[in-house]
Amino acid sequence: MAEKQIILTGDRPTGRLHLGHYVGSLKRRVELQNSGMFDEINIMIADDQALTDNADNPRKIRDNIINVMLDYLSVGIDPSKTTICVQSALPALHALTFYYLNLVTTARLSRNPTVKAEIQMRGFADEGLPAGFFCYPVSQAADITAFNANVVPVGEDQLPMIEQAREIVEKFNNVYGETLVLPKAMIPENEMQRRLPGVDGKAKMSKSLGNCIYLSDDAKTVKKQVNGKMFTDPLHLKIEDPGHIEGNVVFTYLDALCTDGHFAEYLPDYANLEEMKAHYRRGGLGDGTCKKFLINVMEEMLRPIRAERAKWEADIGSVYDILREGTAKAVETTNETLARVRKAMRIDYFADRSIEKEWEALLKQAKQ
Ligand code: ATP
Ligand code: MG
Repeated sequence: MAEKQIILTGDRPTGRLHLGHYVGSLKRRVELQNSGMFDEINIMIADDQALTDNADNPRKIRDNIINVMLDYLSVGIDPSKTTICVQSALPALHALTFYYLNLVTTARLSRNPTVKAEIQMRGFADEGLPAGFFCYPVSQAADITAFNANVVPVGEDQLPMIEQAREIVEKFNNVYGETLVLPKAMIPENEMQRRLPGVDGKAKMSKSLGNCIYLSDDAKTVKKQVNGKMFTDPLHLKIEDPGHIEGNVVFTYLDALCTDGHFAEYLPDYANLEEMKAHYRRGGLGDGTCKKFLINVMEEMLRPIRAERAKWEADIGSVYDILREGTAKAVETTNETLARVRKAMRIDYFADRSIEKEWEALLKQAKQ
């Protein structure tokens, strides 16, 4: 029988979702959802994971669940095709995490480059590192495997997590017998979309770094971010000066976002980005024109998202029900996996009464 095609992805409810999420993961999820090629698509709001570095601020996590829900629905996640659920309401994940923790070493966890960078960024290196945060890749392995996901569409920063999950699956199946599905990461083909930098040019647009353009930002804010925060080429002082593309944030964003169609619509002087870049390099193309074009490209993407968001904002009751129903379904799926895992680990004592017979046989044998 062909393997079932199952997706799991998720986001931490630590803030509103931004363009990095959109190009790195959300857009792909909507395409995959509408492709009809998948048996199941699951999206999880990872509130437990968000608490691993926000333990003192549960309010923030609680408040952002609605923001993330609205972001999902406004980009086109369709609850009739995709199950949306919340992590903390799925007790099976906690149990799986606890078992998987025994299958990894602290040395292996210490080597995870994304976690290492995040520890630095959050100042945990000096203040002390919460054990939960250190171990979150293990809980992520629990999330993925609990849904039997074989495909995980994510940004590049998540590759070490998927690698870790694969190792746990292999180890588990090795020790306890073939039980868990081996997941694969799916990252964007477009290199710039794998890790969109912040408007400040920092390596990653990230809620924690405050360098984002949010999907819910209004047109005025977007314009302000592009014009005020994005640097171009510091050597490109006069329009006639030759310009540099490398490290030029405006061009990085254009690489990630624009299509030939955008040129026809907003900048017909060029057929495509290559022609525009060539002109910039030669000199004679101003930064103002480039930024204006980028704003048009972004606005074309963001306008329908904002309109959809406004509809859902007026109907929070339905949003709540979507999450409640999706979570109820996810409880069943993840409980089934946990039952399978416990059976494989021989700790399914109460699944049936077979252990009663085993105990009796054991005692009889001991007496002989
Ligand atoms: P936090 O700072 O709280 O970790 P975040 O902005 O990194 O927030 P996550 O919720 O951790 O967002 O990530 C959700 C998904 O979005 C992941 O698949 C991640 O790879 C992807 N993603 C996040 N930021 C970017 C980005 N700048 N470019 C591409 N993909 C991204
Ligand atoms: Mg993150």
